[in-house]
Amino acid sequence: MIDRIETAYYRLPLEGMGDALHGTMDCEELIMTKVYADGLVGHGYSYTIGRGGRAIRALVEHDLAPLLLGRDPQPVESLWAEMWRALHYVGRGGLASFAIAALDVALWDLRGLRAGRPLYALAGGISRPIPAYGSGVDLGKTLPELLAQTEGFLARGFPGVKVKVGRPDFAEDEARVAEVRRLIGDRIDLMVDANMAWSADEALARGRRLQQFRPFWLEEPTAPEDVAGHRQLVDALQVPIAVGENLHSPDEYRRYVDEGALAVLQIDPITNGGITASLRALALADAANLGTSSHYTDELSAHLLCASRYPVYLEKHAYALDRYLEMPQQVVNGQVRPSEAPGTGLRFDERALSPYRSE
Ligand SMILES: [Mg+2]
Repeated sequence: MIDRIETAYYRLPLEGMGDALHGTMDCEELIMTKVYADGLVGHGYSYTIGRGGRAIRALVEHDLAPLLLGRDPQPVESLWAEMWRALHYVGRGGLASFAIAALDVALWDLRGLRAGRPLYALAGGISRPIPAYGSGVDLGKTLPELLAQTEGFLARGFPGVKVKVGRPDFAEDEARVAEVRRLIGDRIDLMVDANMAWSADEALARGRRLQQFRPFWLEEPTAPEDVAGHRQLVDALQVPIAVGENLHSPDEYRRYVDEGALAVLQIDPITNGGITASLRALALADAANLGTSSHYTDELSAHLLCASRYPVYLEKHAYALDRYLEMPQQVVNGQVRPSEAPGTGLRFDERALSPYRSE
């Protein structure tokens, strides 16, 4: 029985980073949760890129925790559905999904602790190495800084690297992608991420130009609401279209899969609405024979991608939470594996976090 739920809120400083839609980001909010049940403690979290975190914490404390207290923690999918219904009127995505995720992650962790099994096994997966690519938030970097970042990724042995595009002057985007391709040669995969900067028409014209640099995928070319626009890009471009970090429910993924509007389905078990929601998205990808990948959430995603049929890459984020974790994920030969600890294996180093605790 769930007898206690705790939350803590942190503001983690970020050194100047930015992308096309969200501009400069200087803080990551972390909302940590602990769910106590039957002598075990499940750990969960949610995060934002600087805004909304206190509202997420309030949803957890005032609306979701009271629903779970006194309940059996084991039927996680049913509890997810109850949380979803409880916030439906103000939810169906957005902050509600981030709040549900903070508890859903902890419930899956509890499930693993109770069973003595790691998350990938609970999800029906087998541990296997997943290729990882180096990813920065680099739209604001100068070209020399961007190339230095890329050289750092190569030095770490990544078989793929990503570049942000979406500068006001597309000629700059094109020059930056060209320079990175020149630096990495033909044997390294090159992902390109527009962070929804373009209209569908702009994405079509610009995607055609960028294809000369043989990108592995084009990520978030346009607004997530424009499913038809994504479908048009899938049909018209050779470069695969990758989408997922801004899809906040299983239904949003279903629309994309039903419409054939993506080629690589990316999960983020926080922004998607929890591990439960990301697993549903991955099942849709399997049924449609789509490749899968991840956004941020390196440790959780390594587990979940092992439960997917065609995981192509895990995003290894330059701003991963490593310095705040007890056991940061290791990259070996450009690949990662999920933790073998029961549950998620994800534990925050609360001493490292404590200077950033806030109200
Ligand atoms: Mg992205």
